[in-house]
Amino acid sequence: MAMGCAGAKRIVLLGPPGAGKGTQAERLARHLDLPLIVTGDLLRAAVREGTPLGRQAKAYMDRGELVPHELVVALIREALQKIEVEGGKGFLLDGFPRNLAQAQALEGITSIDVALLIDVPREEVVRRLSARRVCERCGRVYNLLTQPPQRDEICDACGEKLTQRSDDTPEVVAKRFDVQYNQEAQPLIESYRQKGLLLSIDGVGSVEEVFGRIVRALEGRCAGAGGSP
Ligand code: AMP
Repeated sequence: MAMGCAGAKRIVLLGPPGAGKGTQAERLARHLDLPLIVTGDLLRAAVREGTPLGRQAKAYMDRGELVPHELVVALIREALQKIEVEGGKGFLLDGFPRNLAQAQALEGITSIDVALLIDVPREEVVRRLSARRVCERCGRVYNLLTQPPQRDEICDACGEKLTQRSDDTPEVVAKRFDVQYNQEAQPLIESYRQKGLLLSIDGVGSVEEVFGRIVRALEGRCAGAGGSP
């Protein structure tokens, strides 16, 4: 069911790696009937396809570092332009912006209505991501603790052996949290707070609980903004 509020159609999702952004983004995109752009997926596809951008991005991703600004901005600009061309009813953007420079670049491309922060503490992030497994064939994502496959480390959907992302080891996860999130994203979060665009959600709990909080917060904001929830 699409939400009836015209006020929140261009949404960026913020939160540490492992906050559950991907899972919540997919649900929310369906719920709001908005196209979803997942920056990490676009980058991983470029790496898999061996494009010039993918070849440059790979080393940074394997080390848990941010891919250089120009590369990511070009990728996002292209994805947003495609959405504009296809009708431009809004978007849900996962994984971008991750710092102030990227937020400024985004302002040059489009404006946003809400920055939705899914907040999860560091220990929980390391615990969750170390248990994440992915299917490289069909892209399905599992968690050995919270959403395990039916057969030991085998994809329910296509039968492929599940793998661990090279950047999901405890050491790289801790670095992604400290460098990408604490150093890079905190000033960004603060700037969205000052602009009145930040909506912060407690990301600890089941997928359903967190999704419920997100929908209620967006509807509350919608009603507060004079929209029709
Ligand atoms: P994610 O799937 O969102 O955890 O992203 C995986 C990796 O892709 C990150 O660790 C970064 O190396 C890279 N990446 C994703 N989004 C961005 C971004 N906005 N800017 C720079 N690098 C990014």
